[in-house]
Amino acid sequence: MFERPPFKNCPQCGREQGFGILWVSSEFYDRRCKFCGAKATYCLPEVDKKVLYLDQFAISEIFKVKERKRRADAPHAEFWAEANDLLDRAIRRQQIICPASNIHRDETMVYRDGKALDLAHEKRLILRMK
Ligand SMILES: [Zn+2]
Repeated sequence: MFERPPFKNCPQCGREQGFGILWVSSEFYDRRCKFCGAKATYCLPEVDKKVLYLDQFAISEIFKVKERKRRADAPHAEFWAEANDLLDRAIRRQQIICPASNIHRDETMVYRDGKALDLAHEKRLILRMK
């Protein structure tokens, strides 16, 4: 294994940008100096993010809000617009993740705009990582 960025200054030998990430687990990560081999283990912060699986109906409705494809007389427009805003906000604040599943992909195949819907959900997944 090799040290990876981001690098910090080594606390032992003092060389700049030598103390990189060596290993990451669910609760800890190790840093090692690529110059002197000094090693240290650090605790990761506790995860308080929630996993929220959206069902296909919700994904479809939110997609229609985003793409402005809702019929003018479609019911609950205000609810889905607010749900979309709240989900985006929670994702940007790193409070939730909304993972996709194979079930979503299978159900999306039969939707008339399935490819765009699938891409929109993937985009939401990418948004949460930024
Ligand atoms: Zn060092």
